[in-house]
Amino acid sequence: MTGYWWSERIGPGFAHSYQVELLYEERTPYQHLFVFKTPLWGRALVLDGVVQLTLADEYIYHEMMVHVPFLGRKRPVRSALIIGGADGGTLREVLSHESVERVVMVELDRQVLVACQKYMPEVCQCWDDPRLELIIGDGAKYVEEAASRGEQFDCILLDSTDPVGPAICLFERPFHENIAKCLADDGVVVRQSGLPRTMPKVMPFVMKRFEDVMPGVQVYRAPVAAYGDEMAFVIATKDGASCALPNSNLVGRYYNPECHKAAFSLPTWWKRLIDEYEDDGTVPIETVDCF
Ligand code: SAM
Repeated sequence: MTGYWWSERIGPGFAHSYQVELLYEERTPYQHLFVFKTPLWGRALVLDGVVQLTLADEYIYHEMMVHVPFLGRKRPVRSALIIGGADGGTLREVLSHESVERVVMVELDRQVLVACQKYMPEVCQCWDDPRLELIIGDGAKYVEEAASRGEQFDCILLDSTDPVGPAICLFERPFHENIAKCLADDGVVVRQSGLPRTMPKVMPFVMKRFEDVMPGVQVYRAPVAAYGDEMAFVIATKDGASCALPNSNLVGRYYNPECHKAAFSLPTWWKRLIDEYEDDGTVPIETVDCF
């Protein structure tokens, strides 16, 4: 393989290096986008210097993001809202549930969507599904307007970038208030909440913002290999119900009922991060300098 080595700065004095062949690069109106080909992980999407997904392990992230809220909820999900998710992996898993009648997906950056459809078409083949309503726009603005219309969803999936750049508005208090309004009374919301190893404040911060507006807040984890450590997902229900027990025997490439249950067992150091977090309300903006 030809190419050069590119590094993602993960934390102070620590980087992941990939041997890469650059397939595409663009400065979109919102972010700096790369698509790389790598020997181990296959193609990878990078936004503002942060690996978003690789073809080799995206199924772990997307199955855990979708099946845990869908199958942890008591009733089948009929309507879903995805914020972000340009690569289509979350959409693919949502549409794999036959109960789903309507999905609204709100992605800010059309260029990411176009690049993913061109360079990673295998992630999602469902773009023409009649159940999908695709909106190019800001997720925070969408939920504000949906809340004022009284629109509600059974499940909301926050598949955005980390709290940097255009995603910061998705971590602010008004966004969470609108999410609670847009959720059915027995609805569930889930958010990718970063790696506690390298972003220790994001998971407890996200928990606090959901606790401000709804009672049933939990955390679960998934080992998304290319990210380098376990990723946290924060999940919250408006009726306080737990999502820790699956209501089906679905078996995916990663997901199964045992993995669902085990994902809610947290290591002691994660529990300490949660217990010891001092919330001053400010978004824990993690900056990366990567080029
Ligand atoms: N798996 C990912 C990760 O690990 O962070 C997320 C992937 S997905 C590509 C993230 C998407 O969130 C990006 O395409 C980005 O454009 C979108 N996004 C960021 N801010 C947004 C906003 N305010 N509204 C809607 N989408 C947003």
